Amino acid sequence: MERINVAIIGGGIVGMAIAARLSETVSGIVVLERNKRIGREVSSHNSGVIHSGIHYPRNSLKARLCVLGNEMIYNICKENRIPCSRLGKLTVAKGEEEIKEIERLLKQGEENGVEGLSIMEGSDVRKMEPNVEVDSALYSPSSGIIEADDLLNFFNAKAVANGASVALGSNVLGLKRVGSGYEVSGMGGGTRFSFQADTVINSSGLYSDKIATMVGIDIDRQGYRLHYCKGDYFRVSGDPPVRRLVYPVPKGPGLGIHLTPDSTGSIKLGPNAYYVGDIDYVVRSKAEEFREDVMRYVPSMGSRHIHEDSSGIRPKLQGPGDPFRDFVIKEESDIGYHGFINLIGIESPGLTASPAIADYVSEIYSNLSR
Ligand SMILES: Cc1cc2nc3c(=O)[nH]c(=O)nc-3n(C[C@H](O)[C@H](O)[C@H](O)COP(=O)(O)OP(=O)(O)OC[C@H]3O[C@@H](n4cnc5c(N)ncnc54)[C@H](O)[C@@H]3O)c2cc1C
Repeated sequence: MERINVAIIGGGIVGMAIAARLSETVSGIVVLERNKRIGREVSSHNSGVIHSGIHYPRNSLKARLCVLGNEMIYNICKENRIPCSRLGKLTVAKGEEEIKEIERLLKQGEENGVEGLSIMEGSDVRKMEPNVEVDSALYSPSSGIIEADDLLNFFNAKAVANGASVALGSNVLGLKRVGSGYEVSGMGGGTRFSFQADTVINSSGLYSDKIATMVGIDIDRQGYRLHYCKGDYFRVSGDPPVRRLVYPVPKGPGLGIHLTPDSTGSIKLGPNAYYVGDIDYVVRSKAEEFREDVMRYVPSMGSRHIHEDSSGIRPKLQGPGDPFRDFVIKEESDIGYHGFINLIGIESPGLTASPAIADYVSEIYSNLSR
């Protein structure tokens, strides 16, 4: 049976970033992606925001890898002429309670190493964004936007140039511990495949708990069971009401319905956040709910036309009402799976963090005893 060094399950932004990074020093890497194209799941159903890192508790992987990834993405874009815009973001507050929350976010962001944060008065916010009417706002200048596909294609080209293979249309259906490695089997191009890999990297997004189960890991015992949390988007027709990213204070499992300019300047509203049992990308929310939410801080939204856009699904470890859960990025020797690296719960800020996640996984790989 053919034997390779590393099988990466999942050709999303994270799997491709890992392939690009690991292939700098390791040969015999294969990325297995069940769709016919890379990045067609969570990585192409998101806001495309380069987050600053204010939203996550100090020392969490989300905080550390977001702050590192933010800087890495701007550098990658500069060095490789990939378009992105450091637009800056306003997290807006109305009333005492929300002002206290942005002050907490300021402190948390500073502890996480986010640079340039400041709290602005409502009158100064209006000078920056005339359509935004609030009491105060937290300004984070390092937040920006990127087309996720551009970054994905960059990682893909780098991985392939370094000698990694990307097997599209290859659905992993079986994983078995054999000797010092793993037998990976599945279906690709209408035929069965089977090979051995010394190391398996599970980067399969919404399916990562299922892949962990496949190899024999008890996901309930490990706390790896995923909850799908959907977010719908709408789009504002006509002139853009804002030029920067404008977010409310987060409440619930998402970051709140925000305004995100894309690379054309057109404004997306959303995503909201609601838990679902199945994966589909049908928009189920109503435009009026979005309008009402956003009118609280952009009153002119009352007279704007809003139309349905798209949706995405977050692979969340945090179920309804649960406290914060961090990314799981872990080599599983301690539970009997040497050389099996799980990435589970890679929701936002996974796009921003992707190059830093790749460095982190590369370090785990280098420290594996062989
Ligand atoms: C609504 C929404 C908004 C978001 N906004 C932002 C944002 O603005 N900024 C930010 O930083 N992050 C954001 N994120 C998070 C970010 O999009 C994700 O963290 C990131 O895309 C995850 O990438 P991934 O590679 O882990 O997952 P995916 O892109 O889902 O890739 C996993 C891949 O594994 C493949 N796969 C699964 N099972 C198998 C199998 N058995 N065999 C072979 N292949 C398999 C899938 O087909 C898929 O392509 C958002 C997420 C959502 C849902």
